[in-house]
Amino acid sequence: MAKIFCVANQKGGVGKTTSTVNLAAGLAKVGQRVLLVDLDPQGNATMGSGVDKRQLELSVYDVLLESASIHEAAIFSEKCGYHVLGANRELAGAEVELVDLERRDQRLKAALEVVDNDFDFVLIDCPPSLSMLTLNGLCAAHGVIVPMQCEYFALEGLTDLVNTIKQVHANLNPDLKIIGLLRVMFDPRITLQQQVSEQLKSHFGDKVFNTVIPRNVRLAEAPSYGLPGVVFDPSAKGSQAFVEFAKELVQRIPTL
Ligand code: ADP
Ligand code: MG
Repeated sequence: MAKIFCVANQKGGVGKTTSTVNLAAGLAKVGQRVLLVDLDPQGNATMGSGVDKRQLELSVYDVLLESASIHEAAIFSEKCGYHVLGANRELAGAEVELVDLERRDQRLKAALEVVDNDFDFVLIDCPPSLSMLTLNGLCAAHGVIVPMQCEYFALEGLTDLVNTIKQVHANLNPDLKIIGLLRVMFDPRITLQQQVSEQLKSHFGDKVFNTVIPRNVRLAEAPSYGLPGVVFDPSAKGSQAFVEFAKELVQRIPTL
């Protein structure tokens, strides 16, 4: 059975997409069968996995509107070692088109049931909003991985996300929980970041992943080559951290 995780945070630019593509590549590297689902119309996770969003014949849009299956629409990225259900600007229209349809928030869940035995992990890159798209991700998932920067306002943003997850848990998806908080773009030289990191640990305990992702320029450069950092430069500190994170996640699965 595939473990399905959303990578979500209502803030933009916090490292959701970077975390999704690098975790996918890290998991693939340690032998896991991975499907990455891009739920953001920007298509950054698609491009960052070596799949050209402008050339997609079928995408997650077609899957949500039930005009294609995941088997038909997902593409295997040879370079990255995982499957990609891609997105592009067309997906922005799905928001409106889904409004009048039945089970509009359960479309992704239904589509994923068919491929449950084909993958060990499904990672869903969410857009930075609580839209019908994000809701489809949260309804399909067993849990949420929350990337966050250790900055002052990060904690405030977390309250909204935690409340959203509680609501979805209570009303739509009883399986849903926070899998863990991933500290990203971390710079240990900045005192405030250390302080926020400590606050996070005292507040959320073992819901904070042990692995910390450092701020690392190679991770930021990799998308312009259409690759996750883990593939683009495996020796970079940030890439190594993501492989460590993949191993930590695999180890945690039995305890979830
Ligand atoms: P989101 O998907 O939440 O909007 P992104 O993953 O696109 O965020 O990251 C925002 C920006 O920060 C991007 O330019 C990305 O390359 C950069 N970035 C993300 N993680 C790191 C990191 N660990 N070190 C350096 N830059 C990073
Ligand atoms: Mg993104």
